[in-house]
Amino acid sequence: MKTDVIIIGSGAAGLMCAMQAGQRGRSVVLIDHAKKLAEKIRISGGGRCNFTNLNAKPENFISTNPNFCRSALARYTPQDFIALLQKHNIGYHEKTLGQLFCNDESEAVIAMLRSECDAAGVKRFMNCEVEEINYTPAPDDWQEKRVGHKFHVSTSREDFNATSLVIATGGLSIPKTGATPYGYHVAEQFGIPITKLKPGLVPLTFAPDDWKPYAELTGVSFDAIVSVGKQSFRENVLVTHRGLSGPAILQISSYWQHGEALHINMLPDIDMEALLAEHKTSKKQLAKFLTQWFAKSFADVWCAQLAERTGIENKPLNQYNDKQRKLIAAQLHDWQVTPSGTMGYAKAEVTCGGIDTHALSSKTMECIEVPGLYFIGEVVDVTGQLGGYNFQWAWASGYAAGQAV
Ligand SMILES: Cc1cc2nc3c(=O)[nH]c(=O)nc-3n(C[C@H](O)[C@H](O)[C@H](O)COP(=O)(O)OP(=O)(O)OC[C@H]3O[C@@H](n4cnc5c(N)ncnc54)[C@H](O)[C@@H]3O)c2cc1C
Repeated sequence: MKTDVIIIGSGAAGLMCAMQAGQRGRSVVLIDHAKKLAEKIRISGGGRCNFTNLNAKPENFISTNPNFCRSALARYTPQDFIALLQKHNIGYHEKTLGQLFCNDESEAVIAMLRSECDAAGVKRFMNCEVEEINYTPAPDDWQEKRVGHKFHVSTSREDFNATSLVIATGGLSIPKTGATPYGYHVAEQFGIPITKLKPGLVPLTFAPDDWKPYAELTGVSFDAIVSVGKQSFRENVLVTHRGLSGPAILQISSYWQHGEALHINMLPDIDMEALLAEHKTSKKQLAKFLTQWFAKSFADVWCAQLAERTGIENKPLNQYNDKQRKLIAAQLHDWQVTPSGTMGYAKAEVTCGGIDTHALSSKTMECIEVPGLYFIGEVVDVTGQLGGYNFQWAWASGYAAGQAV
């Protein structure tokens, strides 16, 4: 089949690109090996799809080339996606921190994108395995105009020829949703560099012996500021049987490097040294005192661990001297723990790293060295923070390529 554009991967980015290109009058073939359309949209946001974030700015994205995302994000904004939802009468609400969720199930977003693609004449091929991609470069005298090249894509269903090939195969997280490393293999085939990949927005784990005292506290959570290097997030921290999770930990996991300690300010709104000084005549035990802010089980274990680390026992507050109060406060404001690893791609929401953006045009997502080849969405080395940013990148990069293919 001859077509203008072949898109491999019909997730968030692929669907957006397909509908945009179709609306421009391009003939589009959208291929996916999965049986179901856009499985990650379906499971996202706890089934309600946190489809964008009102505060989306380039600073909310991680990349070895931090300015790359600017152009695409400026040309397709959260308001543009909201307008699309409104056109389809899909209700939504802001949950917190600018995060927009559907009022009903995520399926509404999938149905909307599917109907836009159908209306734009996009031909969808689900359950379709790509077997081979061949590229015929343009004759020498055409190359400067970036035209005249051709892609030939063989699949388990049909063979396709096109002048534009868009790779929208996403990242590696949650393999059971259809995630594969295929996009990275295509990059390798064409000599396009890939930055280091790692699971992002993922729970962190600790060495079992280190974590033993806390493992019993699964489900306990508290508000905190968690930092590594210059990056900090204030949200909930959740204790799990293997380590730490919750929004603050998922956020910091994308910035955390192996071997680094997390710095956790467990009482960000309180000057603990001053408060302990105020209570220096109190007969209340430290652990009991801390139950104002933490579950009793957590306060007990944390104080027992404090004793192991510093020698400061859990005692009535009136038995501590100034130096000890200072140290207790410092430990509460900067609890340092070093994860041993992450829960991996099986539990990660995203893949950090990907197609090196230095090889792509920030305006169109086209490969600088391979005219006609585009990479969009999560397969690219642009990773959003938690809170709707990853979909905003999928829409924005899909839109950018959709205007160019
Ligand atoms: C549990 C979970 C919850 C999430 N919640 C949110 C959220 O609420 N908000 C948010 O912004 N982000 C969320 N994300 C992240 C978000 O889902 C992704 O960043 C986004 O889907 C990426 O879009 P994409 O189109 O690049 O890739 P995907 O949506 O992953 O789509 C890739 C498509 O390519 C197909 N594919 C893969 N390999 C092949 C192949 N070899 N041949 C053919 N097709 C192939 C896949 O089947 C898939 O359909 C969540 C992620 C997870 C895992």
